[in-house]
Amino acid sequence: MLVALLVLMPSQEASAWGREGHETIAKIAERHLTKRARKRIEKYLGGHSIVYYAKWADEYRHTPEYRFTNGWHSTPVDADCRYNDSLLDPEEGNAIFAIEKCSQTLQDYRNLPDSTVAVNLKLLIHFVGDMHCPAHIKYSGRNMKYDVMFEDKYHKPHKFYIHHVWDNEIITTTRIWSVTEWAEELDRLPRQRIDEITAGTPRDWLHEAALSCIVQFDMAKPDQRLGQDFLNSALPLVESQILKAGYRLAETLNELFD
Ligand SMILES: [Zn+2]
Repeated sequence: MLVALLVLMPSQEASAWGREGHETIAKIAERHLTKRARKRIEKYLGGHSIVYYAKWADEYRHTPEYRFTNGWHSTPVDADCRYNDSLLDPEEGNAIFAIEKCSQTLQDYRNLPDSTVAVNLKLLIHFVGDMHCPAHIKYSGRNMKYDVMFEDKYHKPHKFYIHHVWDNEIITTTRIWSVTEWAEELDRLPRQRIDEITAGTPRDWLHEAALSCIVQFDMAKPDQRLGQDFLNSALPLVESQILKAGYRLAETLNELFD
């Protein structure tokens, strides 16, 4: 009975983007790291790439050692779609808090133990991704906890928590290629456009992301049946957010490690 209840209850702790989204963000970022930054970062990651650890913060959020990061996967915004310090719950934290904290710590990476640098890197890689996920931007005064009828690839509807649709289902229903191929398909913007996207601070990026993603409430309403029409408008939004997250992650890492 308890098991059945747990399965039916919408999870409050869904993982933004799933593996495919997070790894694609990191793959796009990797394509824009300077040689020097990439070499330094991979040294701290034990020879692994940023792609390899893109999902790490989701996998360790419930372990005793990293439970303090469990609230860092989403970020609240106010009625103007902006973040400010009054929105920070000091017990919980949020993605902006995490990004600013990790970036600040990593500014001193040369004087820190290797293991501290590695953990802060793994967290930073992940949370730049999370803050761009539509369902992980907590809009003030908006109901974000509802179910929809989402059609699988055979057009059969299933009851889904809307959060999971944005995190996983759009991607897994529409994309079967590898993260490398997806990154190659998406990463085609001219340098000038990339510079515009990466200008500003993580707080500016969140504001822009919140404005871009507010259409989610028109795209999917409670109990609505979501089929191909939904995917046709939702996938471009998801891809655009993944691309921006990738460019901004590269910018953040280059600034710290180049
Ligand atoms: Zn996450």
